[in-house]
Amino acid sequence: MTRIVGIDLGTTNSLCAVFDAHQGPVLIPNAVGSVLTPSVVGLLDDGRILTGYPAREMSVTRPERTAARFKRFMGTDDHRPLGDQKFSAPELSSVILKTLVQDARAHLGYQVTDAVITVPAYFNDNQRNATKLAGELAGLKVRRIINEPTAAALTYGYHEKEADKKILVFDLGGGTFDVTLMEIFEGTLEIIATAGRSQLGGEDFTESLTRHVLTEAGMEPERVEELEPLRYTRLRKLCEQAKIQLSDEEEVKIALPDAEGKLAENGDDITITRAAFADLCAPLLDRLKQPIARTLRDGECTPNEVQDIILVGGATRMYLVHQFLADYFGKQPMCKHNPDEVVAMGAAVQAALMDDHEAVEEMVMTDVCPFTLGVEVSKRLGSSVRDGYYLPIIHRNTTVPVSKEEVVATLYDNQSQVMVKVYQGESRKTKENLMLGELEVNGIPPGPAGQPIYIRFTYDMNGILEVEAIVHDSGLKFQTVLTHHVKGLNEQEIQRAVDRMQEVKFYPRDELRHQHLLHYAEQVIGEVNPMERERLEEALDQFEQALFDTDRELFEHRRGLLLETLDNMGYAFDDPEDL
Ligand code: ADP
Ligand code: MG
Repeated sequence: MTRIVGIDLGTTNSLCAVFDAHQGPVLIPNAVGSVLTPSVVGLLDDGRILTGYPAREMSVTRPERTAARFKRFMGTDDHRPLGDQKFSAPELSSVILKTLVQDARAHLGYQVTDAVITVPAYFNDNQRNATKLAGELAGLKVRRIINEPTAAALTYGYHEKEADKKILVFDLGGGTFDVTLMEIFEGTLEIIATAGRSQLGGEDFTESLTRHVLTEAGMEPERVEELEPLRYTRLRKLCEQAKIQLSDEEEVKIALPDAEGKLAENGDDITITRAAFADLCAPLLDRLKQPIARTLRDGECTPNEVQDIILVGGATRMYLVHQFLADYFGKQPMCKHNPDEVVAMGAAVQAALMDDHEAVEEMVMTDVCPFTLGVEVSKRLGSSVRDGYYLPIIHRNTTVPVSKEEVVATLYDNQSQVMVKVYQGESRKTKENLMLGELEVNGIPPGPAGQPIYIRFTYDMNGILEVEAIVHDSGLKFQTVLTHHVKGLNEQEIQRAVDRMQEVKFYPRDELRHQHLLHYAEQVIGEVNPMERERLEEALDQFEQALFDTDRELFEHRRGLLLETLDNMGYAFDDPEDL
């Protein structure tokens, strides 16, 4: 068994896997017995933190004390309020990572210290470094950050060592979309090209549906979201369920909650058919096309030449996505691997590769750099000099590790200094790209304009960029390594975040299932009729009281009663294992 775990830190759900010598990559169950841990953090009134399923239930009834979908602001300066506190995306993510590591420890029987963490291929350096920081805040040594589609490809490659094919990985998760073209040949996995959008996922389909239902009901979605958060979160949850139901059914009814987020017995509802949902989502499906087209173009491949399509991410279960892919590629996607699980499993295969595990010694994998990397230059256009132009040095989808050089030149006579500004992105103007850092070159010997300066970029498998500048005539050499650049955070602030996260108190792991049940029942209260409500509230009060009691027998009895009450109302409390 390798000691490095593989972690899929998702927008919606996170998973942890480990490589076992006999079984290969295996997923680790959490405290409530599921391999999926919702990426939701809740702050209880007593200051303790809840994560996963109980926090997800809590987010319906107490949105102001929960945070979800925070991966979407990874790499920005944003903070989310949680009760009277505020947390950054790396801080919230570190809480999820800590939960996964505690679960791994309970399952494996030893402390886990090292991890491979996956990120969407299209994450830029800020987002990658913020993810690395999240790992460090959780006390983990982050051995490598790998791309989610690359991880999915590793799972595929591990199980299909004999294949000889061109494969497309189509990853539509909760909040991000990635597409990757790869080739597998005699155990070698070669990533050819990748592209994606970091702001497109299953959540956008839920959001579209929620807005549509509100509009149909004669309300303004933005106002409801702002002024009636309980109505909004409840409806969003119902729309999420409806969206999932539409993966199997032709039409669904969505009930309209009141301003308090409750459902009246004979309240209004709105019917949505598959076709109407597809129409509603047409603009979202349209946004999937550009990254696919770009990947195929970069990889010099036609839709026909793609032999298998691997589905990754829960949102690929949507009927309309299957239909979209069948139309685009003229073939049905492959459903052999569980789309929720392939990424974490692949991260565990990567962990085995890093550990030189004998089960993977025949496997070789090459990856690409997902963005163009370059420097800012000025251009002489006629008699004027204009700055802010981008000179690419390493083009996107170049196989890594790679080292490339370009020449720039001094603009003026006797220019002694040049500031080399390093960017990532595809735009012709640097202001539309992401600045990664800079390197000051000085002491250039006096001379006429046009003296050459050689700039060399070296990019490795870990996404670390080394920049070198050599002033040709003098042989002067300047160098910098661009890594650990977390936007808006200096060393001191990072240390403060580390200290702060060490203070966080988690709800005891063995009792999480009870919190899960409690918050589940609490959110069902909003859905049942007044008579049932009274009975459920009674059973819930009794259960809550017993939670604080030391009498275990009484507790089990009341737990049984609450489960039965829920069951009788048609709200059986499913073990997440069966979900
Ligand atoms: P992430 O990797 O971003 O955490 P997941 O791969 O877990 O995301 O996918 C979560 C998304 O998949 C959510 O938007 C969820 O609503 C959606 N999803 C899950 N199951 C289904 C289903 N059966 N039908 C449609 N959408 C689904
Ligand atoms: Mg995912």
